[in-house]
Amino acid sequence: MIACVGLDVEIHGCISITGTPGVGKTTIAQLLSSSIGFDVVSIEKVASDSQCFAGVDESDKTSLIDVDCLQAQSDYRGKNLIIEGHLSHFVPSDIIIILRCHPEEIQRRLEQRDYSPDKIRNNVEWELIGGVWTELEEVEHEASLLEFNTSTQSPEAITTMILECLTSGMFIQNKDDVIDWFEEA
Ligand code: ADP
Ligand code: MG
Repeated sequence: MIACVGLDVEIHGCISITGTPGVGKTTIAQLLSSSIGFDVVSIEKVASDSQCFAGVDESDKTSLIDVDCLQAQSDYRGKNLIIEGHLSHFVPSDIIIILRCHPEEIQRRLEQRDYSPDKIRNNVEWELIGGVWTELEEVEHEASLLEFNTSTQSPEAITTMILECLTSGMFIQNKDDVIDWFEEA
């Protein structure tokens, strides 16, 4: 889905930006959008447009999204669009960008939010175990994959790296190479 035309590089296709809350999905989606001109749509909007809502979690009043329903959406592939949100890897897209962030930094970022201690701990643990990768192993997808660590570099620097990988077609070949916070500790 990546076409390089002379020195001008064109990027085509639907890009999902996923990861644990606090990794920087919304920030980086906006920066990437400014660079490549694709609209950004949140996973909540995709779920709403596709009627993939499955009720409300009474414990914290958040909307529940039916991920099987997201997986059944066939009309996103090939669209020049950025989908951002922590469940966006369930939508069939052309490229999935997994953002990662050191669990201690996730903790710091989520403490700035109105999250309960339980919700913060659950998300820190989710990042620690690489939860998105576990889910990606369980879903069938045809997307090319990229992963970036947002713990120490600026959103702008990460966006530049994303653009370099997109334009050179440098995607993850071997899942064994992805970030493992247990190894890096
Ligand atoms: P998400 O959409 O994944 O929940 P946000 O884009 O809302 O994450 O970012 C969460 C917080 O972390 C925000 O305060 C944002 O300014 C900050 N942030 C995002 N990316 C970075 C980064 N690369 N370095 C430092 N802080 C960041
Ligand atoms: Mg966000």
